[in-house]
Amino acid sequence: MKLDETHDPSLQSWVESANAEGAEFPIQNLPFGIFRRKGERTTPRGGVAIGEQILDLAALGIRTGPTLNALAAQGRPVWRGVRRELSKLLSTKNKGYKKLGEFLVPMKDADLLRPVSIGDYSDFYTGIHHASNIGSMLRPDNPLLPNYKWVPIGYHGRASSIVVSGTPITRPKGQTKSIGQQQPSFGPSKRLDYEAELGLVIGLGNRLGRPVAVKDALEHVFGVVLLNDWSARDIQAWEYQPLGPFLAKSFATTLSPWIVTLEALAPFRCPAFERAPDDPKPLPYLFGEADQRAGGFAIEVEMHLRSTKMRQDKMAPVRLSRGSFRDSYWTAAQIVAHQASNGCNLQAGDLLGSGTISGTTPDSVGSMMELTAAGKNPLKLPTGEARGFLEDGDDVIERGRCAREGCKTIGFGEAAGRIAPCVS
Ligand code: MN
Repeated sequence: MKLDETHDPSLQSWVESANAEGAEFPIQNLPFGIFRRKGERTTPRGGVAIGEQILDLAALGIRTGPTLNALAAQGRPVWRGVRRELSKLLSTKNKGYKKLGEFLVPMKDADLLRPVSIGDYSDFYTGIHHASNIGSMLRPDNPLLPNYKWVPIGYHGRASSIVVSGTPITRPKGQTKSIGQQQPSFGPSKRLDYEAELGLVIGLGNRLGRPVAVKDALEHVFGVVLLNDWSARDIQAWEYQPLGPFLAKSFATTLSPWIVTLEALAPFRCPAFERAPDDPKPLPYLFGEADQRAGGFAIEVEMHLRSTKMRQDKMAPVRLSRGSFRDSYWTAAQIVAHQASNGCNLQAGDLLGSGTISGTTPDSVGSMMELTAAGKNPLKLPTGEARGFLEDGDDVIERGRCAREGCKTIGFGEAAGRIAPCVS
């Protein structure tokens, strides 16, 4: 994907907050979302984040309706055209900018809603370091199963419980059986965890029965969001064999509200994961020269936590980890191609999760399961509290950004959720 004038790092916006040092939404980003003014009963509508403001897409004559699905279904030439137009409108070079004032809404005065209606959701497992870490806890002598390096492993998730950042997460109940227990029991999960992931939002679909070639796969991706795949490890451990995760995951998944487009991510492409010499080469339907060269995305993903006591003591959230999607064993194009390889049709608004993003260092792992060795080495919070897994009242905040020398840094906003007690 080529860079153009919209990526020029010297470009500035007449929306002052977009030019601030460290701004997540400079004019080079321009992510799409769905918003509504706080307290308004009007239909939610599409907007683009610029600094601390939202520009209503009606400024371009685009009426999205309450989801971005129709815009996402249009395909890359349209997405690119809208981005060019937005860049021109919001640039300091636009002398007629004052007319646009009526289309600007401060982000603090808006509710950000789920950006797309999600028909289907799959979650992959592309983080090889995560898969090895988890595998070594379950199977010390055989951490990575033999299919891992051949098949992008995934499972079908639940779309109805996907929520936008800020939605409380009710601790799930479920069936669990700990070692030493004769029989399983039913009750609140005691091992509630998060998973730091990214989500690909599908734009262009494919026809049923017609697979997607790896070289064309990214043409189907509208953009990327932060995704927290909340996981109840005790429920998972008991239910996952032989068909994989089910109720341990389907109680909630949190997304960030802003969809960062592949156009905005173009400066942050990187080579695909470098496979070890004795790893298999991907099968032809998963192999593309261009994908190997530049199919990776250098997106940093962080997890932060703030307990009730930290909030009371006015402490900032503490960072638990920082990983990068460049460590993904499979590229975004490979997971799209794989998902459609059997002829299954993708549709606008479908969501494909990356799987937990973990690196090789202890401060780069994207779940508490890995951070605390399944609760055996609890974390110390700045208040002195210990955490093996999540407690009620904990805020879990996922953040993401892309930074590269010579490019404007862009951010993803956040995907946050507070654990609410079990409903009895
Ligand atoms: Mn996951």
